[in-house]
Amino acid sequence: MKAQTEEELSLKNVYRGSYTSINDLVHTKLDVKFDYDRQWLYGKEWLTLHPHFYPTDSLSLDAKGMDIKEINLIKGNSKSALQYKYDGMILKISLNKLYKAGENYTIYIDYISKPNELIVKGSTAITNAKGLYFINPKGEDKNKPTQIWTQGESESNSVWFPTIDKPNQKTTQEIYMTVPAKFITLSNGSLISQKKNSDGTRTDYWKMDLPHSPYLFFMGVGDYAIIKDNYKGKEVSYYVEKEYASVARKIFGETPAIMAFYEKITGIAYQWPKYSQITARDYVSGAMENTSATLHSDVLQQNARQLTDGNKYEEYVSHELFHHWFGNLVTPENWSNITLSESFADYSETLWIENRYGKDAAEEHIEEHRQRYLNNPDNSKKDLVRFYYANKEDVFDNVSYEKGGTILHMLRKYVGDSAFFKSLNKYLTDYKFKNAEAHQLRFAFEEVTGQDLNWFWNQWYFGSGHPQLKINYSYTNGKAYVITEQTQNTGKIFRLPVAIDVFNGVNKSRYNVWIENKTDTFVFNTVTKPTLINVDADKILLVDKTDKKSPENWIEQWKHAGNYLDRKEALNAFSKNKMKQLGEGLEDKFEGLRLYTLESFQEKKELITDEDINKFERLAENDPSKKVRTKAIELLAFLKDKKYITQFTKWADDSSYSVSGAALQGLIMLDPANAYTLAKKYSNDARGKLGLIVSQTLMAKGTEADFDFIANEYNNESSGDDKILMSGLFANYLTKVSDTAKVKLAVDMIFTYRNTIPEEYKSFLDPLFKNAFNKLSKAKREEGNKELADYINGLKK
Ligand SMILES: [Zn+2]
Repeated sequence: MKAQTEEELSLKNVYRGSYTSINDLVHTKLDVKFDYDRQWLYGKEWLTLHPHFYPTDSLSLDAKGMDIKEINLIKGNSKSALQYKYDGMILKISLNKLYKAGENYTIYIDYISKPNELIVKGSTAITNAKGLYFINPKGEDKNKPTQIWTQGESESNSVWFPTIDKPNQKTTQEIYMTVPAKFITLSNGSLISQKKNSDGTRTDYWKMDLPHSPYLFFMGVGDYAIIKDNYKGKEVSYYVEKEYASVARKIFGETPAIMAFYEKITGIAYQWPKYSQITARDYVSGAMENTSATLHSDVLQQNARQLTDGNKYEEYVSHELFHHWFGNLVTPENWSNITLSESFADYSETLWIENRYGKDAAEEHIEEHRQRYLNNPDNSKKDLVRFYYANKEDVFDNVSYEKGGTILHMLRKYVGDSAFFKSLNKYLTDYKFKNAEAHQLRFAFEEVTGQDLNWFWNQWYFGSGHPQLKINYSYTNGKAYVITEQTQNTGKIFRLPVAIDVFNGVNKSRYNVWIENKTDTFVFNTVTKPTLINVDADKILLVDKTDKKSPENWIEQWKHAGNYLDRKEALNAFSKNKMKQLGEGLEDKFEGLRLYTLESFQEKKELITDEDINKFERLAENDPSKKVRTKAIELLAFLKDKKYITQFTKWADDSSYSVSGAALQGLIMLDPANAYTLAKKYSNDARGKLGLIVSQTLMAKGTEADFDFIANEYNNESSGDDKILMSGLFANYLTKVSDTAKVKLAVDMIFTYRNTIPEEYKSFLDPLFKNAFNKLSKAKREEGNKELADYINGLKK
């Protein structure tokens, strides 16, 4: 968490409403070429606008850090110079006369964009805001392709073309991009033509006939394979680095199915001319839904072996695609309302998972998101729709995304599926190619359901926080009581429609009630004491709850309640109360809960019984999920039993890097010589867990000849516990390396990493690094390499 400056704190008191439209964008035509050496863009722009309502004779444009060479008014074939003032951020242009509402005029701007010479503030969502990025522009890094890509959201596209860079502006678009002929280009809309130029360049002409907001403009340039699918006659394509061409359909191939699914649930056809997805090196965010040209980080580029563990980035594919309805088609009026874009994209992940992988998987996903919101106490202080914030990038957070998605889930369960999706249809139909605020979403839901939903919107959209709920039970004389208490100390009391199931063995009765006071008591007549009372029986509430159930209740919940979260809560209680029933989770029908159970055993190894070990063995051998197999093998490895040598050796040969890595890890303790031989063999093709274990094995047992692989793996390991562990092993391994240059290179790598560790961890991690360096320098001194020993000592300061 970074401290806020006084300036940022004072900005928190500024009301952030919608941008006042004096002029409206109508059409944007660009002609650009790139200077790779200077990392500049030479741009010519023809911008058509008109006054929004009131007559005006001036125009303000966002144009960040540019050189402006010329501005003209264009009339037919003639042009006349316009006066302007430019402060490096805003371009103020005096028009030739007073224009009336709806009266179009076109201006021409000749400019140079210099993204690297612009100083901007970053954010958590988008770590930088240069708008236009040149990656390895001179080709100096042999391990990295040369690419250009853009990132507009929130207001960074005005670094590469002058515009009104606000979400409540929409414009049609044309771009002529001139690039070295060896590269392909991607932009919004359709590729209309390509023209080869005599100087070895090519000009591609992209056209988008439908209006969208400037932050959704995109350009991508590079060396890519293009894999084409189609959906209802429209191009659906995947731009990947060439070595991933054969797996592109495994990474992105669900796209047409997801598109069909979204059309079905919204009742609105995919509106844009095509849909392309492209990967980017050194990307500064997760992914970006540029209209019909989504940009993804290159982490999506997994090879076939990685993909055997499942495509863990499919949620990105579903998220960015749903923005083409929520965000791109109907756009939030201002950043304060960004949840109208992000809550839907966030929730679309759950909707798609439910459709494709079933209810348990969907509930696991939304629970993860609920916890992401709940885990950060700061989140409960922020309104979902927020008109006060220090920096517009602040709204791209767990509240706008995860809390928003969770709230949509509650809303869906409250109004019912058919009303929910009909309301979405109404909202999309009424506001398509326009903008909306949260109230407009309410209007759609109110019109469809006939209900006044202000209470829901006021509570969740225009307010902050969530209930802290204590749930207590009692039973006397044929009456079962549920007492709920809202214990949050904010003074705000929530209204919650809640389903309560009262169980008698396998039989249950459902009661729908409202929790709406600080304390509520619900009474149920029942002849015998219920075996379980399940509050929030569908497990949809966004609450932080304390549920006073007995061990017997948890067993009943495990057996009869049914939902993913019912079972997970029960397993959690079994683990906490050291109950033998935990082992039953190993046979759950859902892989996520089998995995969760294995993780619980990993944390509480004292609970493992012989029967559980038998189950670990079966899961390790047979489970359809590679993640479950990996975790089961890790638990077997912990037992250090020589009887597993044969299996570990076999599993080490698995196609999954995770399964293979876990098995190799198991072998290290039992059969180190064999483990080293295998690690050598696998070092040709080792990523993920296998990469980590191979490098650790080679560090422990290897020779100088293994240096390149080890150094490379160390470099590739991003950060965290594994990297810290590797740092110690790596330094220790270096005692076996005699090449001074290699040792220097390696200690520099370790030292550089040590310097990136956040201050708060440094105090207890530093001794680890110090120790490792001390040992290494001592060893080098004993070898007689005083210079190297001194070099290492010098680093420690
Ligand atoms: Zn998003």
